[in-house]
Amino acid sequence: MNRAAVLAANLERVSGEIAAACQAVGRGVDEVTLIAVTKTWPASDIRLLAELGVREFGENREQEASGKADELAGLGLTWHFIGQVQTNKAARIARFADVVHSVDRPRLAQALSRGAVAAERELSCLLQVSLDPSPDSARGGAAPTELGALAATVASLPGLRLAGLMAVAPLDEPPAAAFARLAGYREALLAEFPDARWLSAGMSGDLHEAIAAGATHLRIGSALLGNR
Ligand SMILES: *Cc1c(COP(=O)(O)O)cnc(C)c1O
Repeated sequence: MNRAAVLAANLERVSGEIAAACQAVGRGVDEVTLIAVTKTWPASDIRLLAELGVREFGENREQEASGKADELAGLGLTWHFIGQVQTNKAARIARFADVVHSVDRPRLAQALSRGAVAAERELSCLLQVSLDPSPDSARGGAAPTELGALAATVASLPGLRLAGLMAVAPLDEPPAAAFARLAGYREALLAEFPDARWLSAGMSGDLHEAIAAGATHLRIGSALLGNR
């Protein structure tokens, strides 16, 4: 099969899984946005997925992502930055990203805000929360106890919109248990910031559990693009 046929078949399978997972918990498929995580895959794959109707793309490295966003600027795609952000790269990310999923510290929020204002853009920000019992800063994500203050910081900064939460399920725990905690953090955030409704959770291996826990944005890489 050529690449276009492979991607079409993968997209059909993933869309079917999403629909089944939504139906199982009484949610509408239109409540869930599929983000194709295209890191390490060429711009030509993004073009093919765009022809198949995918509009949202996720990347995790600044150089690779900005290069693809430049090359594909005419397509009107939405770019999600899902990787850890070094503070000194924040301004460059603010130039092309529409959504940053990995805001996990006030200094990063401040740097993204300065970049967004300079670029005259608005960045939707998701606070990345660590679901590890003992958060390890190397893997990214704020501790749950830090979320309230971080949310207030993002909400107060120009150029940023507080959109919700993002998390990655830890490897050593069933994803449903980790996502149940995440749903609790989200409820607490919504009580204070009712517009911060997005929940970015669910990857190729745990999209069912994420949808059951209320995910609004799925970050799907290998199930769509294949394994490197
Ligand atoms: C790579 C990546 C994904 C996609 O993971 P798959 O298991 O390939 O679907 C999702 N989220 C983040 C943060 C990633 O880095």
